[in-house]
Order: sequence, then C-alpha cells, then structure tokens
Amino acid sequence: MSMNNQGRPTGVGTPVPAGTSDFTSVSGSSLLPNEPLLFEIGDREHSGVDLPDVAIDGSFLGGFERKSEIDLAGLTEPETLRHYVRLSRLNYSIDSGMYPLGSCTMKHNPRLNEKMARLPGFADIHPLQPVSTVQGALALMDELAHWLMTLTNTAAVCLTPKAGAHGEMAGMMAIKAAQDAAGQGHRKVVLVPESAHGTNPATAAFLGYSVRAVPARDDGTVDVEAVKAALSPDVAAIMLTNPNTCGLFEPEVIEIAAAVHEAGAFFYCDGANFNAIMGVVRPGDLGIDAMHINLHKTFSTPHGGGGPGAGPVVLSAALAPFAPVPFVRKGSGGTELVEHAEGQHLGRITAFNGQMGMYVRALTYMLSHGGDGLAQAAKDAVLNANYIKARLERVFSVPFPGQPCMHEALFDDSFLEGTGVSTLDFAKALIDEGFHPMTMYFPLVVHGAMLVEPTESESKQTLDRFCDVMLELAEDAKAGNAARFTSAPLNAPRRRLDETRAARSPVLKWERQELLPQAAE
Ligand SMILES: *Cc1c(COP(=O)(O)O)cnc(C)c1O
Repeated sequence: MSMNNQGRPTGVGTPVPAGTSDFTSVSGSSLLPNEPLLFEIGDREHSGVDLPDVAIDGSFLGGFERKSEIDLAGLTEPETLRHYVRLSRLNYSIDSGMYPLGSCTMKHNPRLNEKMARLPGFADIHPLQPVSTVQGALALMDELAHWLMTLTNTAAVCLTPKAGAHGEMAGMMAIKAAQDAAGQGHRKVVLVPESAHGTNPATAAFLGYSVRAVPARDDGTVDVEAVKAALSPDVAAIMLTNPNTCGLFEPEVIEIAAAVHEAGAFFYCDGANFNAIMGVVRPGDLGIDAMHINLHKTFSTPHGGGGPGAGPVVLSAALAPFAPVPFVRKGSGGTELVEHAEGQHLGRITAFNGQMGMYVRALTYMLSHGGDGLAQAAKDAVLNANYIKARLERVFSVPFPGQPCMHEALFDDSFLEGTGVSTLDFAKALIDEGFHPMTMYFPLVVHGAMLVEPTESESKQTLDRFCDVMLELAEDAKAGNAARFTSAPLNAPRRRLDETRAARSPVLKWERQELLPQAAE
C-alpha cells in the first residue's frame, strides 16, 4: 500500500471513517432521519487535504500560539460534500415548491441573476481595490441607484443597508439628522399604525423615539383623521407601510402625507410591499420622504443567500443632504466612490460598500424585465393573489371583505371555530401536502391571521393545486378530522419543534463526548 507524506494510505481502499454507517438515504425519498454533525462523522485522523508539516516559530506570536490540538472534524471531500447536500435536502426552498409566505415575498430567483453575479468582474473584486480598477462595478451601483430613484421618484438612495430593517434604521437616522439640523430635535414621537411590522416600532425605539400607535379602521386601512388626531408638535415622523400588511393599498396615503408634512413631521414609508406597485405607482408622488426597498422581496435576490441581503433606502430631496456615505456619483474621472462627503451627510452604516452580489442580481432582474416588465410583474403578483382570494373566500373567512387585495391575500381562522384545529395545526398540515405554510398570526390586528402571498411567477396550475389542497384541508377540519392536523407534520424530517426553547436556549457549541439533550420534538 502506498503512503502519502503524512503516513496515510492513498488510493483505493482508504478506510472510511467510523460512524458513517449510522445513516442512510431511505429509498431516495430524502428522508434522512438523523444527519450527524460534521464532528460526529469526522475524526481527527482524517483530512481532505494533506499539507506538509510546517515548523512554526512561536516567537512571532508572543506566546499566543495554540498548545492543544485544533480539534476540527477531519473529513474527506466527498464526506463533506454529502453532508451538506443531505442537509440541503432537509430544507424546503423556493426552488423545490411554492412558498406562499405573506409579507416575506419569496420570489423565484432567476438563474440569469446568478449567472451575472458570478462574472469575475463582479464576484472576484475586493472593496479595497483602487477605484480605477472597479469602474464597472461602481457603474453598476450607479445604474442600480438610478433605477431605484426613477421607480420611486426620489432624490437620493443609500444602497448599503444589509436588510429592510437596516434600511429603516438608515432612513430614520436621516430623518433624525434633518430634524436636529433644523432645530427640531425635541420631536421624540413616531407614529406607527397598529398593523405595522415589528421592525417599525423596534427601529423607532432603537433610535430613542417613543412609539404612538395609530388605530386601524374596520376595513384594515389607516384613517387620515386618526393620523391627524395623533399628530402633535413632538411627532418626528410616521412610519406607514403601503400597500399595508393586510395586503391593502392605503387609499388616503396622499392626505396622510399632507397632514404629516403640515405638522412638520416626515413620512417614512415601509417599502417591503413595493413589489405590488413597482412600475405602477411612484411612492415619491405619494409624498414619502424615505422608504427602504428589500431587494430580496421586490427584486428577486435570494433571502439571505450569498451573505446578508440588501435593503437600500431612497430619500426625498429634503433628506438627500443627510444620506449616509459611501455613495457613487459620476465625476470627471469616471464613476467616483464618495467615502468622505462634506456637509451634513451621515457616516457609514456598514463596512465597505454594501452587498455587491445582491446589487448585480437586482439590476439583472430590472434590466431583464425593463420598466414595463416590472409593472407587469407587479400586476401579475396582484392578479395571482386575487385569484387565490377568489377561490378560497367562500370557505376561508376574510377579515376585510368587499375589496380586492394587492399582492397578498389575508384570511383569518374563524372558519376553524369549533373544529379543535388551530391556525398552527392547519399550517403544519400544509407541510404534509408539500407546501410551505403561509405566514401565520401576522398582522397582529387580525386574530388568527393567515397571510398568503403567491408572487408573480406561480403558474395557474400551481395556484390551483394550492387552492385545492387548502379547500380539501378546510373541509377535512370541518368534518371533524382534527387528528390529521394536531399530529401534523408526519411527512417532514422533524415534527414539531420547541421553537421557544430553541430561541431562548440554543445549543451553539459542540462539546466533544458530551451527551447533549436532544432538541425537543
Ligand atoms: C420583511 C419586512 C420588513 C423587514 O425587512 P428585512 O429585510 O427582513 O429586515 C419590514 N417591514 C415589512 C412590512 C416586511 O414585510
């Protein structure tokens, strides 16, 4: 047997590490009961690479050199690959089925986006490269900024926030800076409608504001009179979502903007639902001052894929002088990266220049659709949601009846009354039928809310299959077959998890030879 320079046998017949026989793929059904941790598959004796021994001169490390073994799991390349592929098969994903999670907008991620993001000129550059060597990437950021400002009719955009919530914070920081500069720093209250996403009050509170709730009308929208009643000289801004989290367009948004401005406050718009109106309505025309755009919702970039997401925030002319750095602009020598701006600009809110891979994907989506194609995608998203609403509303209760929805259809759980089946049980039963559950218990203004968002790219066949399953489940619940629901999911790799315990006391560190309690099922 030949040995390599580490004294390990090479070639055919290399021993397989112990432990690998503990798991098998069951008849190709991707049921993989107990995928072990990397540390449980690997051991210290095996390695995917062979490196020559290095004589380390500890004198450079000031006595901080490692004394014990590094204790990493040793695995071969195929073992590592299979481990991660097996894990990936435990996931439900937008690439494996419909993902009707309302508010989250789980759009198809076009493969063209992925192809563009992998071009070496975008994928292999470094943020510390000289600006003259990354002109193409900066021009792409400039073009993306142009599209975002054009689609929203706004004066400036900060591309760098890493998520919608981060964009919210950047926008609200600009509002705060503008008010401080105008001697209005005493404004300490932010108005937030009751139906708002939790990130809105969280952002306001994080920046030191107190939150004043604005009640919703019986039809799920915000009354301009309720806003006027809540306005006072200490109000800094309103944070309003439009279309709102009930999937409804706020019909009095222009009057609300006028009332807010009249009172000397700013209008922050939560733009998470921009996908319903892009190319159709420009939020700047409605009077907004700042709005974040979740590229992973509206412009089809993966949620959390390839690192953090991107949540650019657009700003009105009044807020543009306060935009955070860095930003790009056309200069005499090409596209410039402005990292130290004069005047009142806020400093950085992220390291470097933001999430380049997401910028490429979002601009690819925009360019491949064109302006008219984006408007079509918004209209198709609204059509798909209304199709689901029309097919389901005879059986599923609708909290705000009598009006069409925008890009998502909101139902409540009153149809389950007396069945012994909860909203959660119903959602878990959907898993057994091959669908990711819809958003549950949000928005909070609706008891037992079920928020369904199909997005524009689902076919009529898929929508029909989903509706058929929903109707069949509702019928079964009403027929008294509660056991099917309370025991669901049966066809998933895991049953019901103790989510509270997982969040409160997560086990984040693997300890060798310590028998950790199994995650609760
Ligand atoms: C998703 C969402 C947010 C937060 O966006 P993230 O990108 O998840 O940080 C804020 N508001 C609404 C209405 C949302 O749906």
